[in-house]
Amino acid sequence: MSEELCKKAVEGLKKRGFESVFVKTAAEAAEIVMKEAESAESVGWGGSESVKALGVRERLAEAGKEIRDHELVMDLFLLSANALTADGRIVNIDGRGNRVAASIAGPKRVVYVIGRNKIVEGGIDEAIARIKREACPPNCRRLGKKTPCAATGKCADCDSPDRICKVTAIFDRKPTGVSALAIVVDEDLGY
Ligand code: SF4
Repeated sequence: MSEELCKKAVEGLKKRGFESVFVKTAAEAAEIVMKEAESAESVGWGGSESVKALGVRERLAEAGKEIRDHELVMDLFLLSANALTADGRIVNIDGRGNRVAASIAGPKRVVYVIGRNKIVEGGIDEAIARIKREACPPNCRRLGKKTPCAATGKCADCDSPDRICKVTAIFDRKPTGVSALAIVVDEDLGY
C-alpha cells in the first residue's frame, strides 16, 4: 500500500521536472546519496532528521567532504520535505528560510530524501496541516523553542518570537536551473 503511494509520488515528481527514484529502504537511499556525493567536495544538509536517519553524515565526514551546513553555496545539498503531496508537490516550511533558499539557488545539486510518512493524499492544505501537526511540535521541542506546539503538541498559529513556521515554499515544479533528485523511501524517516 505504501509502496503504491510512494511510486505515485515519484511519478508526480517526474512530471513536475524532478529526477525521482523509489527505493524500499533507507539503506538503499544512503547508497544513492553516497554515489551523488562522490564528485562533490562540499556537502550540506538542512538540519534534516531524515538525512540524519540515513547515517550518511558520518560517512560523508569520513570521506573527507567539506561540510557546509546553513550555507547557500556548496556542491551537494541534502534535505527532506516536510510534506510531499501524492501528486508530487514538495512543501517545506522554514523559520529562517535558509533551507528553502538553498533548495532553490546556490548548490550545484540538490538531493531530497523523503520517507513515506511525509506523503499526504489531501493536496496542499493537508500537506501544511501535516507539517503543523507532525513536524513542527517535535522540531520545536528538539530545538528548545518556546512555542505553544512545543508545550501542547498542537499548533496555535502563534505569534511567538520562537515560531519556526515563517516561510512556506510549495514546489509546483522544479525551479528553473536547479539540478534536483528526489529519493522517495518506503520507510518512515524523520517527522
Ligand atoms: S505556528 Fe507556532 S504553534 Fe503553530 S506549529 Fe508553528 S511554531 Fe508551532
